[in-house]
Amino acid sequence: MAQQDGDSDRINIAIDGPAGAGKSTVARMVAGQLGYVYIDTGAMYRAVTLSAQRLSITAEQDDNLAEMLESLQIRLAPGESGQSIFVNDEDVTALIRSRDVTRQVSYFAASGIVRQVLSTMQREFAIRKGVVMDGRDIGTHVLPDAEVKVFLTASVEERALRRYKELSDDNIISLKQLEAEIAERDQLDEQRDISPLIRALDAIELDSSGMTILEVVETIVKLSRTKLAEAK
Ligand code: C5P
Repeated sequence: MAQQDGDSDRINIAIDGPAGAGKSTVARMVAGQLGYVYIDTGAMYRAVTLSAQRLSITAEQDDNLAEMLESLQIRLAPGESGQSIFVNDEDVTALIRSRDVTRQVSYFAASGIVRQVLSTMQREFAIRKGVVMDGRDIGTHVLPDAEVKVFLTASVEERALRRYKELSDDNIISLKQLEAEIAERDQLDEQRDISPLIRALDAIELDSSGMTILEVVETIVKLSRTKLAEAK
C-alpha cells in the first residue's frame, strides 16, 4: 500500500528474539543512527505487570486486568540509559527491571486482553513510520508490514552471561539460576497461544553469539538503508 503522510522516506524496523539477545541495545543504537524512534515493547509488558502486582491482580483475572488497563497511561520517553517509561506519569523505569517483575512478566504477556491493548498502542506509535521496535511478536503480529525484520538470537549460556554482568550487587542470583530463569521465560514466550515468540518467515535471523554489538548494529543499518533506497 502507498505510504501515508508523505513518509515514504522512512521505514519501520522490527527486532524480535528471546530474552537477553541484545535487542534493546541494538535497537536503540540503530534508531540513533537512523534518527528513528526506539520503542521497547518489553518495557510496556513489564509496566503492566508491575501495575497488576501492585493491585494484587493475577494474570488470569481478565476483568480486573481490563479495568486496570482502561485507566493505565503508558508513556515512553528517551532517557539517560535508553528509554524511560512512565505509568500515569510515575517514572517506573527502574522498578520494572526488578526480579519480581521479570519472573512474572511472561504470565501477564500471555493474557489476551493485555496483548490486545498493548499491540494497539504499539501500532499507533508506528503509524507514521521511522520506528525501531523490539519485542517478541513485532514482525509477526504488531507490525507484519515492517520493511526490515530481524530475529536476533544467541545461545542461552551467552545470554545469561551478558545479563549476569549487567546485574547490580543487590540482585543475588547465580549464573546457573539466571540461565534457568531465562530458559523458562523463553519457553513460556514460545509456547503461549497468542502471538508466541517465533521468527517471522520474512525475518533475517542474526545469531549475535559471535558478533559484537557494533557488527549487529551495522548489519541492521545496512539492511535498512538498502530497503530505504528500494522504497524511493
Ligand atoms: O524484552 P523484555 O525481556 O524486557 O520483555 C519482557 C517480557 O515481555 C518477555 O519475556 C515477554 O514475556 C514479554 N513480551 C512480549 N511481547 C513483546 C515484548 C515483550 O510478550 N513484544
